Amino acid sequence: MKDIIHLLPDNVANQIAAGEVVQRPASVVKELLENSIDAKATEINLIIKNAGKTLIQVVDNGIGMSSNDASICFERHTTSKINSAKDLFNIRSKGFRGEALASIAAVSHTELITRQSSNDLGKIVKIHGSKIVENKSIVSKIGTSIIVKNLFYNIPARRNFLKSDNVELKHIINEFHRTSIAHPEIKFIFNNNNSELFNLPESNLRKRIVNIFGSKSNEKLVPVNEETEILKINGFVFKPEYSKKSRGEQFFFVNNRFIKSPYLNHSVNTAFEGLIDLKYNPSYFLFMDVNPKSIDINIHPTKTEIKFDDEHSIYAILRSAVKHSLGQFNIAPILDFSHDKNMELPYSYRNKKVVEGVGIDINENYNPFQTTNTKSSENIYLDLDKNSQFNQDQINSIEEDSRVNTLDFKDDNNFDSNSVYQLNKKYLINKIKSGIVIINQNRAHQRILYEKFLKFITVDGSTPQKLVNPLKMNLSIQEVNLLFNYKKLLKSSGFLFKKISNNDLNFEAIPTFLDPNKVESYIEDLLNNIKDEIPDKNFSKSDLTAKLMSKSLAIKNGKKLLIDEQEYIVNSLFACKEPNVSPFNKKIYHTITFDELEKKFL
Ligand code: ADP
Ligand code: MG
Repeated sequence: MKDIIHLLPDNVANQIAAGEVVQRPASVVKELLENSIDAKATEINLIIKNAGKTLIQVVDNGIGMSSNDASICFERHTTSKINSAKDLFNIRSKGFRGEALASIAAVSHTELITRQSSNDLGKIVKIHGSKIVENKSIVSKIGTSIIVKNLFYNIPARRNFLKSDNVELKHIINEFHRTSIAHPEIKFIFNNNNSELFNLPESNLRKRIVNIFGSKSNEKLVPVNEETEILKINGFVFKPEYSKKSRGEQFFFVNNRFIKSPYLNHSVNTAFEGLIDLKYNPSYFLFMDVNPKSIDINIHPTKTEIKFDDEHSIYAILRSAVKHSLGQFNIAPILDFSHDKNMELPYSYRNKKVVEGVGIDINENYNPFQTTNTKSSENIYLDLDKNSQFNQDQINSIEEDSRVNTLDFKDDNNFDSNSVYQLNKKYLINKIKSGIVIINQNRAHQRILYEKFLKFITVDGSTPQKLVNPLKMNLSIQEVNLLFNYKKLLKSSGFLFKKISNNDLNFEAIPTFLDPNKVESYIEDLLNNIKDEIPDKNFSKSDLTAKLMSKSLAIKNGKKLLIDEQEYIVNSLFACKEPNVSPFNKKIYHTITFDELEKKFL
């Protein structure tokens, strides 16, 4: 029989290899940034157009390449970083596989300009899908610039597989964070669609984190330092109270290389045990130094997963180091995550009825106790939220809490006081003619808010409530951009804000029915939800915004509600167009008929 096995042509082999290394624009960004770091650059510029789909450029002031090296660096397995297999066990550089440039060049239009300080002239090499189309000398700066255009132009399936610009940009920003946090000694500039997203001067780790995540992060940081025979740890964790429901900022670096490790993540989580709710995730920036011989980085083409020789010890050391730091910095257990302003009130005020603002800036027109018989449902919601802000302690301390949670509640309200009952601070039980309905309070409120916001956004806009004290919020550039993406929709919902610097937004108005003193936590919730949301192809931005806002602003389960708040939820829910399911398609209530109940007692 005829022989059928043959060697694949280089361009095909490169395309196949590219599939492993280059999954999306962010992978190109990662590889190019790493090459610049390996080239000892002290300043690196990243330039992106259309989330990297049309252009990715990295310019560095590193050592550059010789004329010959510039011609062969795009071939597979060409590297200056290792010579023999034994070097694999002592890797200090980022790259070593000699695959990245070959892979990138196989699936894009790539252009390299590079010059070493010892040469007067530099070199330009252009390459289209692994084929060199230009290769000549050129006058250029010392260092290297690589331009990658039209990624996956020759693999339509891959190109179609790319997500929206927002999502791809988010991936790029994540890579940029990882690389720039690992190298605070290098200056980084990141331009996206001609606007500067980050400008990070050369600094130390603490300042780098603050430059990326906003000046507020400074006070959140707790240093972690530990040195043992097999492992050196340094870095920071965020104080427990800044833990997030979403993943938060979680960074592990081993020998200065960002790695993903659910196992080590678990170790840090257990160090926070007792300090944070299980649903929350701590943020951390932790650097571990180990003997390169004791790890294997080469188990994954993108080098983000590694194998440790002694995983169990590392787990234990890491946990105890973080625990120790939290203890040393006197971080006592903090169980309340609602940022309840009550916690900040002097103790003697806690059990008093708040009539005025108790030293807290509040909306002058707002009266926290003006709940009874209010006709406008919006006002009731304002109160509802207000109560959670100012009066939770008062509510808790009212003897036996006769206004809340009792079946035989009576007062001068003109509704049937036996009709609603709150169970476990989570369910509202409402008697109806044929039986009872059991309502999940959070989902019900999400539905109410969702319909309200959708109407504001699509039909008539909300009348904003001007803030007596506009709120300046210091955010990361990424967060500012995220909110700007939604600016128009947020405006029709009642949120008005202006940019006062790359990092600061000024909130001037919020929807009428929200508590002006909680703007900050609303925005934080909203940002987290926006960050967590990866919109699918056919999403409607209006709908998504209404959903995100309802999720962010709805009263949570676990919140004790006043009887009129319970009433408000029940009544408004059943006035909704679609009271059965939450905006996220979760069942809002169940009914049990008296017949069913009778049967249970047969
Ligand atoms: P690796 O980084 O694994 O060695 P790459 O394909 O990423 O493989 O790069 C191939 C080689 O090209 C590198 O080993 C290095 O010598 C050279 N190189 C790539 N980028 C740069 C740069 N920005 N400055 C100087 N040399 C570079
Ligand atoms: Mg490389």
